[in-house]
Amino acid sequence: MSSEMRAVRDAILSGNARPEDFTSLPLPKTMRAVTTHKDEVRMFEGLDSADKDPRKSLHVDDVPIPEVGPNEALVAVMASCINFNTVWTAIFEPLPTFQFLERHAKRSPWDKRHDLPYHIIGSDGAGVILRTGPGVTLFKPGDEVTIHCNYVDMQSPEGHNDSMLDPDQRIWGFETNFGGLAEIALVRANQLMPKPPHLTWPEAASMPLVNSTAYRMLVSPNAVQIKQGDIVLIWGAVGGLGGFALQYVLNAGAFPICVVSSEERAKLCRTVGARWVIDRKAEDYRFWNPDGTQNIGEIRRFGKKIRELTGGEDPDVVYEHPGRETFAASVFVARPGGKIVTCASTSGYMHEYDNRYLWMNKKRIIGSHFANYREAWEANRLVCKRSIHPLLSEAYPLEQTGEAAYRVHHNLVFGKIGVLCLAPREDLGVRDVDGRARHIGQINLYRNAAKGEFRLVKTEP
Ligand code: NAP
Repeated sequence: MSSEMRAVRDAILSGNARPEDFTSLPLPKTMRAVTTHKDEVRMFEGLDSADKDPRKSLHVDDVPIPEVGPNEALVAVMASCINFNTVWTAIFEPLPTFQFLERHAKRSPWDKRHDLPYHIIGSDGAGVILRTGPGVTLFKPGDEVTIHCNYVDMQSPEGHNDSMLDPDQRIWGFETNFGGLAEIALVRANQLMPKPPHLTWPEAASMPLVNSTAYRMLVSPNAVQIKQGDIVLIWGAVGGLGGFALQYVLNAGAFPICVVSSEERAKLCRTVGARWVIDRKAEDYRFWNPDGTQNIGEIRRFGKKIRELTGGEDPDVVYEHPGRETFAASVFVARPGGKIVTCASTSGYMHEYDNRYLWMNKKRIIGSHFANYREAWEANRLVCKRSIHPLLSEAYPLEQTGEAAYRVHHNLVFGKIGVLCLAPREDLGVRDVDGRARHIGQINLYRNAAKGEFRLVKTEP
């Protein structure tokens, strides 16, 4: 680490530096960042997805710090985290992300900065603002922030009811360069949100992407807007998206049905407060026959299991993201008039389902993608109010980002993995010690589960 970077880090760690201290600190010319390389995008050709190894394609390089432009900020990143898009980038699926950077660069001379032979990845972050460009009003140097990944400047009329509909909307650190897995990130000012003061740096960094996505899918009128009493089937209920969905469903007074793949994960769902849990591995559902056709008998068996748990009711909402493997079952089990809300296709995006179950029963499929600033801000606000809690179970140093991504790729993780960028330790960054103490049981739940401890001590709100 350069001496300039160390001075930035020390100012943050001191906890009492003023805005002018940050603006007067000289920035280093280069920083460490996690990258993929444009000349390696074919390195995994011919391999199955599972054999494409992020540990080989993710590098930690010294790279120049980009110039800050209008309405932008440079943020010293204390921590970031692994998302599934880190995995997609690292295995160059479904496309190498350099195509996104090239497209983005055509938009304006400032956007040209993004088209480089390396891609600094990462779509989450928590840290401190070091510099702001012209036009930034809401935040200033020295502010402690989390970063959400909706990258949009709102010049197109189409985005003004919902910025996710802007034709130039991108996911930062995936479809743009200069993402969060670095010592310094370049963001638009409208990606910034206040850091929840009761959380550590990696806890705060591990939330914005999946929490905001779950909020939009389940709470926002832009997707399902669940209500008291709804039954919500959650695939992967202790994964990144699923772990937040479970909290939103319980907070809403709705009833989750959690689907997970081990007894330990089932225990974690019950500890959080779920009554109905299905261990899909133990049940050994085979929705697909070896010849590639679907097995309706197995899909019906899944539906029967749901009714056994609920006393005969079907889900009002199915929270979908596994995609091809589960989508037909999701459409089948939703109740007449029910909704299937989907934001992903981890197991394959060419879905196949029997449409008769959809149209005859007036079900609806709703597409959802990340969140607009308002939705991300609301999701962050609920964290600040300590009504939604982090899912962090592990944290890795920046140098081991490849290993951390490998664990997510192979579904070896409870909740989320943080990555320490400038933070020297996992436990730093807490400013509201009392607020943290009141919710320490919920905050440490996933960490403890990863150690085999399933116990939730609920404390005073
Ligand atoms: P994650 O942390 O790995 O969790 C996914 C969970 O899904 C796993 O824990 C696993 O749980 C379950 N799962 C995986 N494969 C499955 C299968 N074939 N059948 C049934 N369940 C399966 O990942 P995540 O962060 O939640 O992301 C999930 C997907 O959503 C990824 O494809 C990601 O790229 C996408 N995503 C999209 C958006 C968006 O805005 N569009 C935002 C966030 C994420 P069990 O093994 O315990 O069942």
